Amino acid sequence: MSKTALHRELTRHYVLDGSKRYITNAPIADLFTVFARTDPDSTGASGVSAFIVERGTPGLSTSAPYKMMGQAGSPVGEVHFDGCRVPAANLIGGEEGLGFKTAMKVLNKQRIHLAALCTGPAIRMLDMAIDHACERKQFGRPVVDFQLVAALLADCRAEIEAARQLVLATARSRDADKDIALEASICKYFASEMCGRVADRCVQVFGGAGYVADHASIERYYRDVRLFRIYEGTSQIHQLNITKQMLRRRQGKA
Ligand SMILES: Cc1cc2nc3c(=O)[nH]c(=O)nc-3n(C[C@H](O)[C@H](O)[C@H](O)COP(=O)(O)OP(=O)(O)OC[C@H]3O[C@@H](n4cnc5c(N)ncnc54)[C@H](O)[C@@H]3O)c2cc1C
Repeated sequence: MSKTALHRELTRHYVLDGSKRYITNAPIADLFTVFARTDPDSTGASGVSAFIVERGTPGLSTSAPYKMMGQAGSPVGEVHFDGCRVPAANLIGGEEGLGFKTAMKVLNKQRIHLAALCTGPAIRMLDMAIDHACERKQFGRPVVDFQLVAALLADCRAEIEAARQLVLATARSRDADKDIALEASICKYFASEMCGRVADRCVQVFGGAGYVADHASIERYYRDVRLFRIYEGTSQIHQLNITKQMLRRRQGKA
């Protein structure tokens, strides 16, 4: 949580001040996990702690949902803390400075999860595109008979399979307690970019109907999946992390 001033009080409360934009389900959530700096003298991760804050706590408020490009089923908004007093018992791990470590524990798992979340809609979009290509006739033939359309479908299938195998292999490595900091980032980066490419090709297979919401729902998928390349670490952040992790391994640090 940026720009957050936080003071421990003698009454065994912490006081949270600050705000965070772009929080999934903020307008409807009952419980918030909040990362805040508890050590004002530290600029590093060790000065960050994690808290559970319940809706209804005085000083906590949320905004109305944003108007977004897609993901209409998931309201996203802002969370504001204005002198919000949080009981010390709500400090996750019971100790200051564990926030970043707590987040790191779940980060790799979340990245594999997000990669799987990208693969599902890609499979669905390809199914829809295949159905359309088999049914839609041009020049007296289903458009799937045209080799350039077949190539669009083949590229989707090949990339989906690559993402699927990557997700499964990385999940197996995690289950085997291996260091997957590099592989989890590759998973999220590749699967989310793959999903974007599949969405784009599938809209193309639908032709005009792909662009018109009244004629096909593929345009909604195209808008919905755009988010995958932005949250849980943008593609650029994952590119940086992939190289960072490669260098770590090269230097024998992992
Ligand atoms: C719908 C939605 C839901 C979200 N839900 C949540 C949520 O529940 N919880 C939560 O904490 N966050 C959530 N987010 C926030 C999301 O994780 C951030 O928007 C995302 O990490 C990008 O940060 P930013 O918006 O500040 O972009 P910026 O950091 O301003 O990035 C702008 C551009 O610069 C690039 N960039 C930034 N820094 C670097 C760098 N060091 N090197 C190279 N390129 C860089 C980015 O890749 C991007 O292309 C959500 C966002 C959206 C849109």
